[in-house]
Amino acid sequence: MTDAFLTQHLEAIPIPALLVGRGERILASNKMAQAMFGDQIVGRPFVTAIRQPSVLDAVEACFRDQTPRKTRYLANDAGRDMTYDVTAAHVNPGDAAAVLVCFQDITPMEQAGQMRRDFVANVSHELRTPLTSVLGFIETLRGPARNDPKAQERFLTIMASEAQRMERLVHDLLSLSRVESEERIRPTDQVDLVGIVKSVLHTLGPQAQERDTQLIYSGPDGPVKVFGSEDQLRQVFVNLVENAIKYGRQGGQVSVTLTEVDQDRSMRGPSVHVAVRDDGAGIDPAHLPRLTERFYRIDSHRSREMGGTGLGLAIVKHIANRHRGRLRVESTQGQGSTFTIILPRHLGS
Ligand code: ADP
Repeated sequence: MTDAFLTQHLEAIPIPALLVGRGERILASNKMAQAMFGDQIVGRPFVTAIRQPSVLDAVEACFRDQTPRKTRYLANDAGRDMTYDVTAAHVNPGDAAAVLVCFQDITPMEQAGQMRRDFVANVSHELRTPLTSVLGFIETLRGPARNDPKAQERFLTIMASEAQRMERLVHDLLSLSRVESEERIRPTDQVDLVGIVKSVLHTLGPQAQERDTQLIYSGPDGPVKVFGSEDQLRQVFVNLVENAIKYGRQGGQVSVTLTEVDQDRSMRGPSVHVAVRDDGAGIDPAHLPRLTERFYRIDSHRSREMGGTGLGLAIVKHIANRHRGRLRVESTQGQGSTFTIILPRHLGS
């Protein structure tokens, strides 16, 4: 069995693979394995090329009893943690005993698992705080405050607001899961974005008034059509305008500007930009890339105080993706932030 023949076989394996011979030297490897362990690995002792004891044990055990083994190999590639499923299988190339070692990259699966665990932990944490508070007040109402109508009134008000917080969280979680499950289904209805934006501003008028904020629309009055889900686009602008009111300056301005672009390079065609701008404190650039992560908040205390769930921008991002659109965030500290939704525009009537 020539080395070239062995290498050719290993090259046919679509993941990093190498062959270890008796004496535990590497007999051959494919290019993917060389990219992982270095191009000079052939001929080297296996122990010095791959230093992880679990893999060495698997290879040794496989030589001993010729039974296949599975194990994990953990690596760090340019600062990124990688996880591989390793299989060691006994083979007999040209009657000489050898072990074929293959490395399957399972990093994305590991990351997905970690994200799921983090998500469950976050949801539990978010629900636990208001729940503990409600349970505590129930105890107080049954005990010390049993005959104190004033205290009862005060505690019931707090309990109602904690229950509303849980309701908002459950509502946002359901929206997020619905939007995620529909993300690959393109909307086929034609909707008028101007109408949606104006109606959102109308609905949020009272909320803006509470913070003495002026809501301003500028853009065309007539219809601007996009393919979209009316409910979901409405949710996008509710979330963005609500954030601008909540995190913008008290007594400030929130402007919503709708612009039609005829040739948008990033959209490869006509598009419409809806920019929601506030004149609040702005956002430190370090936070910008993470803003659309679920439960990511710059100031958790402020967000909770304002009734935020930390899910609003995650929902916005998923809806934008479903509409083949983009969310762009620009901010200058001390001057405010602009959240722009860019959607492909439908040119038909
Ligand atoms: P929340 O429910 O906390 O408002 P979002 O997902 O809508 O959650 O927003 C995530 C975080 O992004 C907020 O907690 C806030 O820190 C920040 N943020 C969102 N919009 C703005 C804005 N217009 N100005 C400043 N910070 C903002």
